[in-house]
Amino acid sequence: MSTKDYLEKDYYKTLGVAKTAKPAEIKASYRKLARKYHPDANKGDTGAEEKFKEISEAYSVLSDEKQRKEYDEARSMFGGGFRVPTGSRTGGGGFNFDLGDLFGGAGDASGGLGDLFGTVFNRGGNRTTAQNRPRRGADVETETTLGFGDAIDGTTVALRLTGEGACPTCRGTGAKAGTVPRVCPSCGGTGQSSRNLGSFGISEPCKDCRGRGLVVDDPCPACTGSGRAMSSRTIQTRIPAGVSDNQRIKIAGKGAPGERGGPAGDLYVRVHVKPHPVFGRSGSDLTVSVPVTYPELALGAEVKVPSLRGAPVTVRIPPGTQNGTKFRVAGKGVRRKDGSTGSLIVTVDVKVPKDLNGKARSAVEDLREATAGQDPREDLLERAKEA
Ligand SMILES: [Zn+2]
Ligand SMILES: [Zn+2]
Repeated sequence: MSTKDYLEKDYYKTLGVAKTAKPAEIKASYRKLARKYHPDANKGDTGAEEKFKEISEAYSVLSDEKQRKEYDEARSMFGGGFRVPTGSRTGGGGFNFDLGDLFGGAGDASGGLGDLFGTVFNRGGNRTTAQNRPRRGADVETETTLGFGDAIDGTTVALRLTGEGACPTCRGTGAKAGTVPRVCPSCGGTGQSSRNLGSFGISEPCKDCRGRGLVVDDPCPACTGSGRAMSSRTIQTRIPAGVSDNQRIKIAGKGAPGERGGPAGDLYVRVHVKPHPVFGRSGSDLTVSVPVTYPELALGAEVKVPSLRGAPVTVRIPPGTQNGTKFRVAGKGVRRKDGSTGSLIVTVDVKVPKDLNGKARSAVEDLREATAGQDPREDLLERAKEA
């Protein structure tokens, strides 16, 4: 027995009994009617045969305690006598969900009746309105701040997301606890009303239900009947290795939940990376500035340089190295998506002593004397005039 039958057929009326009739009354009435319309007693009368079938169908439902209960619930939920919008006009019987669908979802905190009603009314083919169509959830943007090393290695962060979703109190129906929305009597649940303008008609969203197809008599106090509510949730999200400061990461399907069976939106996470006291980042390269002395650059040296992960590395500075020269240490940078690793870029930075002791001072003075003929600014003034 389909729900369509349940909603369109008044079995009590068929059997001529009250909705409150006791099983014995139903049985008695059925027997009386069955005898009257039995095909054997009405040979050749197709009307009687049809009537007999209707009586049998009604009795089969109402005589079964469980089925009768489902029937009563289905009808009270949809206001009874409600004409299912499957329509002879659409030509297709698109309305064939069963009671398992109908009641199965109602106990589920996340799904609930909001989605259910959406599904029901989307079966109506061309009656679907923008409001009734499944809607993809909104994209959500949030921010997180990562430690320098976590950004390089990847990490899992807890993100607190606030957004609009189905009201948890009424599970999106907009109706007060213990009640359910009623099918809009103005549009019969289609969400659309038609107006005839001379020779043609126009269809517009139903004013009484604002296109929803349902009206709420007792609004949910939490959402004042809108069925929507702001809520926050915390999700654990994996941030991939190698993200940089201010990067926007897309996490598919973690945005706001969809409506009426629509897919969830995407979550975008704007990542901020805390600076490191020593290292910097340039794409997949790490950078470090290493203080050196003038003699180390002039005479050459081997200097120990820290690496972010693991032991320090030794960088060989050749004699005559200029200040600011960059050295590349392969494989000590940030791991890339393809599995390769960037470099550590070492920049030498001469530190000039503020106080020279006696011996060092005289050595520098000797150096000045020994290099007196070399003028580093020899052609600077001339070159400044060019171009
Ligand atoms: Zn309406
Ligand atoms: Zn609510």
